[in-house]
Amino acid sequence: MPDVRDVVILGSGPAGLTAAIYTARANLAPLVVEGEPSSTSDQPGGQLMLTTEVENYPGFVDGILGPELMQRFRDQASRFGAEYVTRKASAVDLSRRPFPVWVDDPATTDPAVEARSLIVATGARSLMLGVPGEEKLLGHGVSTCATCDGFFFRDQEIVVVGGGDSALEEAIFLTRFASRVTVVHRRKELRASKIMQDRAFANDKIAFRWDSVVTEILGDTKVSGARIRNVLSGEVEDVAVSGIFVAIGHQPNTALFSGQLDMDDNGYLRTSAGSRSSVEGVFVCGDVQDHVYQQAITAAGSGCMAAIDAERWLEAQGR
Ligand code: NAP
Repeated sequence: MPDVRDVVILGSGPAGLTAAIYTARANLAPLVVEGEPSSTSDQPGGQLMLTTEVENYPGFVDGILGPELMQRFRDQASRFGAEYVTRKASAVDLSRRPFPVWVDDPATTDPAVEARSLIVATGARSLMLGVPGEEKLLGHGVSTCATCDGFFFRDQEIVVVGGGDSALEEAIFLTRFASRVTVVHRRKELRASKIMQDRAFANDKIAFRWDSVVTEILGDTKVSGARIRNVLSGEVEDVAVSGIFVAIGHQPNTALFSGQLDMDDNGYLRTSAGSRSSVEGVFVCGDVQDHVYQQAITAAGSGCMAAIDAERWLEAQGR
């Protein structure tokens, strides 16, 4: 018989782990399905594992590294009794109660756990360009994570694609290693915040290619260049670079809930009355329901809301 828990939390970024801290302190013995180590944002700890310095999380006057912040969240939840399954959730059935949750485990086809209430904090992942060469060369010069891979590009030339805060953050970080970083952006105006723009413009290792898109990533076994097209003039140029960092936004990790929970047109889960989903007893927090703020602090705040909502709901069910 699978373990039956009052609270199962899917995801272990700031939202999931804050929900774990709160539900653990409420004596609900949460089980966190935290994901598996990988180079993507659905690994344990979520997207902050792919970040360097976090300077805007309140309380850390001098900033803190993303992975260290997440380790602290995890340790804090453990202290109050949260437990972890270090695997990815592979399926949930929200038509049965308690909700069965399966994980990627070659050893069994049985559910790993059943949940009286479920907190969904599965986050979001990097969007990719979908151009020739990208998939083949991912991990061979194509990256979505400057923190993980920047070190490999010492004294080399790099392209960063995108015009938001992520792109500029990656570009600025990469100047620690690279000889030159070219930001390729499809428009003339950046989407990034003013402070990030100012920092990038002041960095003499960063150049910009405006109104431009990468149409192909060149190289056989590793990246040798980027084919860049100016969208106004149509002019195409092959630029020799050894790294291409894609930073064009994110997609919510909601495939597990397709047909089971209400989502918007972009696949973000819809919530109402705090963190409630369209299924009673399922609560949602973090980037999987937020395409607007997408900050560690807002994710953590919504994780707290989901935990309190789950606790009150369980209490109303007589738990
Ligand atoms: P974003 O703000 O959505 O920016 C995505 C960028 O990629 C945009 O400039 C967009 O161009 C471009 N883009 C999208 N699809 C593209 C495609 N197929 N080809 C080429 N370019 C494409 O995403 P983000 O930068 O990941 O940031 C997400 C949120 O996190 C934002 O709210 C941001 O403020 C926040 N964030 C904050 C920090 C920080 O405070 N330190 C760091 C990272 C992220 P258009 O502009 O033309 O749409």
